[in-house]
Amino acid sequence: MITPLSGFAGLVLVVALALALSGVDGSLPTRDRSLRLPNETYPLGYELHISSNIHLGSLLFSGNATIDVAIRQSTNEIVLHAKNLSDIQITVRQVTYSGSMEVVDDLIHTYNPQAAFLIIHPRENYQAFEAGQRYRVEILYTAIMRSRPMGLYWMDYVDESTNRTAYVAATQSEPTYARLIFPCYDEPGFKSNFSIRLTHGINHSAISNMPVKEMQHHGELTTTLFETTPPMSTYLVAFVISDFEHISETYRGVTQRIYSSPRSKEKGQSALKNAVRTVAAMEDYFGVSYPLQKLDHIALKKNYGAAMENWGLITFKEGNLLQQDTGDVHKRVKDKITQNHEIAHQWFGNLVSPEWWSYAWMNEGFATYFAYVITDLLYPEDKVMDMFVSDEADRAYSYNSFFEVRPMTSYVETEKEIMAIFDIITYKRAACVIKMFHHAFRQKIFVRGISRYLEKYKYSVANELNLFDYLQAELLEDEYFRQQPWVHRVREIMLSWTHSEWMPIVLVTRNYENDTITFSQRSIHSKSEHWWIPLNFATAQEPCFEDTQADLFILPQTQHSLTLAELNLQLTGRDWLIVNKQQTGFYHVHYDSDNLRAIARQLQHNHSLIHPVNRAALFRDLKPQVEHTELEDIEVVFDMLKYMELEEDLLPWKQVADTIDFVRRNLFGTASLELFNEFVRHLVTPMFRRLFRDKASGDVSNSALEAGQEILLTACLADLPECQDYTRSLAKEYIFKKVNVTNESEYYAMYDTILCLGVRYLSDKEFYGVIGMMQAADRSSIYYDDLIYSLRCTQSHSHLLYYLDLLLGENSTHQILSDPESMMYLSYLYKSNMEARSVIWQYIDRSYKLLCRSPSFVENFNQIAEFVPRQQTPQFAMLRQRIARYMEAQSLNAGEALIDIDSGLVGKKMKNTEVFVDKYEHKIHNWLIAEVPPMSVQNEAIHSEPLSVGNGSNRPQSLLNTASEVVQKALRSIDRSLYR
Ligand SMILES: [Zn+2]
Repeated sequence: MITPLSGFAGLVLVVALALALSGVDGSLPTRDRSLRLPNETYPLGYELHISSNIHLGSLLFSGNATIDVAIRQSTNEIVLHAKNLSDIQITVRQVTYSGSMEVVDDLIHTYNPQAAFLIIHPRENYQAFEAGQRYRVEILYTAIMRSRPMGLYWMDYVDESTNRTAYVAATQSEPTYARLIFPCYDEPGFKSNFSIRLTHGINHSAISNMPVKEMQHHGELTTTLFETTPPMSTYLVAFVISDFEHISETYRGVTQRIYSSPRSKEKGQSALKNAVRTVAAMEDYFGVSYPLQKLDHIALKKNYGAAMENWGLITFKEGNLLQQDTGDVHKRVKDKITQNHEIAHQWFGNLVSPEWWSYAWMNEGFATYFAYVITDLLYPEDKVMDMFVSDEADRAYSYNSFFEVRPMTSYVETEKEIMAIFDIITYKRAACVIKMFHHAFRQKIFVRGISRYLEKYKYSVANELNLFDYLQAELLEDEYFRQQPWVHRVREIMLSWTHSEWMPIVLVTRNYENDTITFSQRSIHSKSEHWWIPLNFATAQEPCFEDTQADLFILPQTQHSLTLAELNLQLTGRDWLIVNKQQTGFYHVHYDSDNLRAIARQLQHNHSLIHPVNRAALFRDLKPQVEHTELEDIEVVFDMLKYMELEEDLLPWKQVADTIDFVRRNLFGTASLELFNEFVRHLVTPMFRRLFRDKASGDVSNSALEAGQEILLTACLADLPECQDYTRSLAKEYIFKKVNVTNESEYYAMYDTILCLGVRYLSDKEFYGVIGMMQAADRSSIYYDDLIYSLRCTQSHSHLLYYLDLLLGENSTHQILSDPESMMYLSYLYKSNMEARSVIWQYIDRSYKLLCRSPSFVENFNQIAEFVPRQQTPQFAMLRQRIARYMEAQSLNAGEALIDIDSGLVGKKMKNTEVFVDKYEHKIHNWLIAEVPPMSVQNEAIHSEPLSVGNGSNRPQSLLNTASEVVQKALRSIDRSLYR
């Protein structure tokens, strides 16, 4: 029966539609129902026909979704998802045993906006749909394309040959947007076959998941029919209507095409080559063929994220697919990884899909991790596993510091919750956990288990237990693993990782008297959580870091004391032990001081004996212990740092840079700071020269590019004169000659580092020169912003005072920045530039009568009050009192109160530093006095007259000519928070 809803204009929102319906009918009273589809009915197949005049720029489209529905259990309703679809007309026919169809009378439909449910039900409430029966549900509707990439959306571009605007329509269905395109069972568990038919302008072409089956031309229109898909989830349904062109290549029976706007066609060559190699490599690695005949990759102006893995039709944002002309190695490698991530999804997600979004990590974790593994196999020279450490693992190790933490497997239900599950945990933490077991279960065995799991669940859906059982089955077939006590407990092992929120720390305590080692675990968080943790060992006697399978699992909630003999380890008292080779395990390791000292001796003697990833891991593991002042023996960290002058690998440098920065900030204002800087200069000079002076341009690897910025910051913030010359030259080139280091806007942030470091020690003449340039500049230009933003980094007190006056002074305030922004700069400057702190107090003391007229003064004053060191609290109290009295007398800022002097907030942000200084400063000072060789020459250099550009200094002649190249290569991502 038909319930025509004609009369609704195309744009009427479904909310209105639903209200109208429930008001008129009332047969289905409003009730709170689950947002999940009921299980009584399921789709056997879809025939979807979409007609669009997008070639004319028309955003209206009409659809016919005909769904064959089977009834599992007798029910009074067929429930589908639909959202923002209008003019809905529904006809339901029962398919009889003879195959004929009979229209089912007396059906109506209701809309539930909260669940986005289109509910087909009889007018009277009875079980109209009987178990075992089949129905054909035909739904006609119209809808409007969106401009945002959700559902069916549109974009345009100007065809340069004709100078006309061309329109493109494309889809984004994941995770819950297929319902915006057509009514459907929009949950990944309801897989079905889709026959898609598209009617479009004759000069446009259509592509979809499957190859074209036939095309019919009628007048100005063409109807393209595609082959029927294998069973697949709705979130993978995709099509694009465009006038794009393509290049293609066929290998092993799979045709791959790169689609782009006609003028960009040739830019797809490297993406095509990569795609062909990667699909073949995935087939070989997992032993499962790519199941479709073709795979398209299309470059779109607008895409949801960088790319979307639709089966057989991957959509990309243009810049992530087409070869860029920047010659930027790093970006090219990143784009390759993005493409390979989407290709990996063709198996992980498309062939086998998650039963429900709670297992989104089974898509994203596998695609993320294996994109790196496959890329590494194909292009070992790119060293992408190092990139995995810096781009994925680093974030996963620190995610808990800035994200809401949840387990990898978490139940979600609303659309919003489903969207939110695509986060750092689903991608990066899951990738790290998968990597851990890829290694712990030996790579070959893990991959074989995965292959069998893919074979078993292909064209179907799976949950995590299905996956774990296949891994266990594979382990049981292996001679070695079969004998392990844990081998029957793979579910428990894996669940301890997918259902925990935080991360374990493994405590390794050696007893040197009786040759035993005690292993225990605790969470990085106070929450009580326990894991099954795979361990393996490298020792001074057996420094083999290559074999990464698990030697031992430590069980939840237990302490294991094992003798060296039981562990099969050769170790003497002075030898070192390292746990978690190549840091394939996703956890921190804490050692006792004696073991750390043994490691420090090895690092100084011959650091290359320890794998570079483990050298980095040592510092990654120490960092939180230093930051939380947990270590009793801070000297051992310095013993370990000492070898860094010999460290040529950037992975350890990246970790060490953070710790150095932390220590430097905490030592600010103490007698140890200059000694510490001298120590750091000593460590960083060789690396700085290698990257920025000798410029190992050709052989700077990918990871080098990531860490180059850290080296620059470490060197310049420790006042290394060469670094100061280098950045000052670049800064002056930019400021006075407006020589851009690069034109790419994405590197805008990089200016910030260079400019900030470059203006730290300007002479008066230079400083006022910069001010002059700034005042002459166009105030709406980026150049102007750059200058005003970089000057915050100056270390000169008189320049800082001048700068403050410029921002906040009587005559300048509103000329420079709008008021709240100026005041924000005050607290920003305070936090970012340690040298500015005393100057700011001085400035406030001098100018509070003016400052407190600003409505945002109190807020910013209260913020910086949190950074008052305890010894300055009395002065702070007096100043605060004077300001409060003045404000009261002047009746200013009645709404907001100055921070209370007894408030726990005053000085709160300094507490950690104070604990650090109390506990460590004396020890660090003594260590530095004993260990740091005097470097008197450098001190002179710091205060020498700054070198001007090209004045015959001893820098290589080519430095400035090639600066842009070096900087582009070396400085990638900026983290403004470094100046926090
Ligand atoms: Zn993905």
